[in-house]
Amino acid sequence: MNRVYNFSAGPSMLPLPVLERAQAEMLSYEGSGQSVLEMSHRSKVYDAIIVSVQEKLRKVMNIPDNYKVLFVQGGASTQFAAVPMNLMTKNKKADYIVTGQFSGKAQKEAMIYGEASIAASSKEANFTYIPSQDELKLNADADYVHICFNNTIFGSKFNYIPETGDVPLVADMSSCILSEPVDVTKYGVIYAGAQKNMAPAGLTVVIVREDLIGETLAGTPTMLKYSTMAENDSMYNTPPCYCIYMLGLVLDWIEEIGGLSEMKKINENKAKMLYDFIDESKLFSNPIRKDCRSMMNVTFVTGDKELDDKFCKEAAAAGFVNIKGHRSVGGMRASIYNAMPTEGVEKLVEFMKKFEAENAK
Ligand SMILES: *Cc1c(COP(=O)(O)O)cnc(C)c1O
Repeated sequence: MNRVYNFSAGPSMLPLPVLERAQAEMLSYEGSGQSVLEMSHRSKVYDAIIVSVQEKLRKVMNIPDNYKVLFVQGGASTQFAAVPMNLMTKNKKADYIVTGQFSGKAQKEAMIYGEASIAASSKEANFTYIPSQDELKLNADADYVHICFNNTIFGSKFNYIPETGDVPLVADMSSCILSEPVDVTKYGVIYAGAQKNMAPAGLTVVIVREDLIGETLAGTPTMLKYSTMAENDSMYNTPPCYCIYMLGLVLDWIEEIGGLSEMKKINENKAKMLYDFIDESKLFSNPIRKDCRSMMNVTFVTGDKELDDKFCKEAAAAGFVNIKGHRSVGGMRASIYNAMPTEGVEKLVEFMKKFEAENAK
């Protein structure tokens, strides 16, 4: 069987041992005579799965007891609305740090519900850096501060956690969750679509501090209230059963590797290999300020659109797929999430070297 190296930004690769285990358990899960795809979410056997996955996530991410873990649907994009609906309840104000497309969308969505101020933005520099703490114009009476910790499209990442005093910090971690340890206590809410680093598309994970669960804006749908999901252990309605099961397998795989600190070492090494090569290359360059580079999404360009297209085409033919940059920015992007083996990055660098030699001007 021939598997490609898939550099997609999401949905993205899943670890091969996870897929193999899912395959082995596909037709009859633990002797139940049914697939997890088929079983009732109210059955005893499924209840054991969802309870254990939540426990595993708490253990792997070291989530304190005063936080709830919610398994919801609608993607990270639905959280762009759910966050203000659940948190913009005191002063109807929030601060948004806009560092890319998704944080821009989140800010725009929040404007529907209240005053969503832009505390800082790197838009004027085409999102090639993350504003520093000194550059943030934070309002003391904001209900929360929102950031996107890793910018999937531009390939940048916060290299610090903004200090927001008593104002809760909300982070979209869709494209970096489980890539390294996180100090959950620094955040009021962490949310992430699963399809980058956790599981197949269809599941969204929300980690929310208990004291932030309560009143919501008038008109908030029952399904979008954190209280609904918290009170019903994410079982108010049918959860994305299979995705949750897959998250459990991914968490087992991370634990086998040695947890998030080991995961981080592997990820740092992969990213370093790619950035080191790009930095010494005469053909490829990376537009992001060095201290703000993403560990998960590595963007690069040749400076010549036709050559970029040629690169993507030849890369795909050689088994490196989905390496084209986001349609809004062009160039190339190699998403190297947890599941991308080190070998895949080594081989990509070899391929880039060869392409450079053949196409040097
Ligand atoms: C992919 C992504 C989103 C959008 O996620 P959906 O699940 O498709 O709604 C939002 N934010 C970030 C940082 C992402 O990487």
